[in-house]
Amino acid sequence: MKNVLHGRCIKCGKTFDAVTDLYACPLCSGIIEIEYDYDYIKHKINRETLAARRENSIWRYREFLPVKEESPPPGLRVGWTPLYPAQRLGAAIGLPRLYIKDDGFNPTSSMKDRASAIAIIKAKEGGFSVVACSSTGNAASSLAGGCAAEGLGAVIFVPRRAPQGKVAQLLIFGAKVVSVDGSYADTYHLSARAIQKWGWYNRNAAINPYLIEGKKTVALEIGEQLGFKAPDWVAISVGDGCSIAGVYKGFQDLYETGLIDRIPSLLSVQAEGCCPVNTAFLTGGELVPTAENTIADSIAVGEPRNPDKALHALRASNGAAVNVSDDEILDAMRMLGRNCGVFGEPAGTAALAGLRKAAANGLISPESAVVCIVTGNGLKDVQNGIKAAGDPLLIPPDMELLEQAFSVKKWI
Ligand SMILES: *Cc1c(COP(=O)(O)O)cnc(C)c1O
Ligand SMILES: [Zn+2]
Repeated sequence: MKNVLHGRCIKCGKTFDAVTDLYACPLCSGIIEIEYDYDYIKHKINRETLAARRENSIWRYREFLPVKEESPPPGLRVGWTPLYPAQRLGAAIGLPRLYIKDDGFNPTSSMKDRASAIAIIKAKEGGFSVVACSSTGNAASSLAGGCAAEGLGAVIFVPRRAPQGKVAQLLIFGAKVVSVDGSYADTYHLSARAIQKWGWYNRNAAINPYLIEGKKTVALEIGEQLGFKAPDWVAISVGDGCSIAGVYKGFQDLYETGLIDRIPSLLSVQAEGCCPVNTAFLTGGELVPTAENTIADSIAVGEPRNPDKALHALRASNGAAVNVSDDEILDAMRMLGRNCGVFGEPAGTAALAGLRKAAANGLISPESAVVCIVTGNGLKDVQNGIKAAGDPLLIPPDMELLEQAFSVKKWI
């Protein structure tokens, strides 16, 4: 890989060859950061060469990806999701320069597809035939879908509470699915032991340094879609913290190669019932594991495996943190649907709820250009969608009753 220098431990600073199965630091178990030769990348990529590219997927940014030159592109088309200007919704929350990045548009309908695509390429480069992970649901479905497309085996550990839509995806994609009767932390521990025992490729985002390299493509796209004018703020919901760290890395890549002139501030949004990363950021203390009390299953991570990169992203970007209640998440889900035609799952709309709060309490000023990443599609969790939006009007097939009902509802 000519574009990659090495992996560096973010704790002890030692560097390691960027081999396929480089996970945590062998010396101190710190997490590894992939470092690039930005001079090399600068010779390959600029605004014009990017504009001329036809690949409307993460493959557009190949030189920024830690994959071998000869590796073929992912079997599924991942990335290049739409960025919608959302003035009406923005005006409603006091941020008229709002954009919605709809990452539910990915092949298995969440931002996790970006990470899984890289994991699968790395697994193939390393000659692995089975990839495994533990997941709150979306990492699982993205891994299962990607593996199905490439003929690889997938072994997936999910907590029993994972929504049915996500579990259905896993099963349809033919993964071996282990539903763990316990918390996400329990699920993670069991997966880690099984992966060690059977030697599968490990897609656990907390220790696999290549995954945030996939996730960062969302920021590369936002940069390019905004004409390389960095927004003031980017909001994203946070569970394990790998997504927000990926967003930071993507903007850092654009900055280091001269494609943008500053890095946006990041807004970390967590659920009130499960906000260990935000608490650590706001108090400046150590991360303390918490309960997992929220409907937003994808960010119900009480014991993030490695919050260090997320906290670094927040501090280095001059970011901020906001917690939101489940009711605020459901409200944001309705607002997003009704103003933009975009259906987000609870963790996907939490970021919008957080932006609304940040605007209301003056944390983000109304002139700011703001991108809200909707990280997952609402069809994955239909029950919460119905909770947010209510039931349809039910009547017998009778015109008179229809008229009566319409006038009661004031629909006419
Ligand atoms: C995984 C996920 C997140 C959070 O990403 P982390 O890397 O766990 O912080 C947010 N939203 C959705 C829909 C997700 O699947
Ligand atoms: Zn180390």
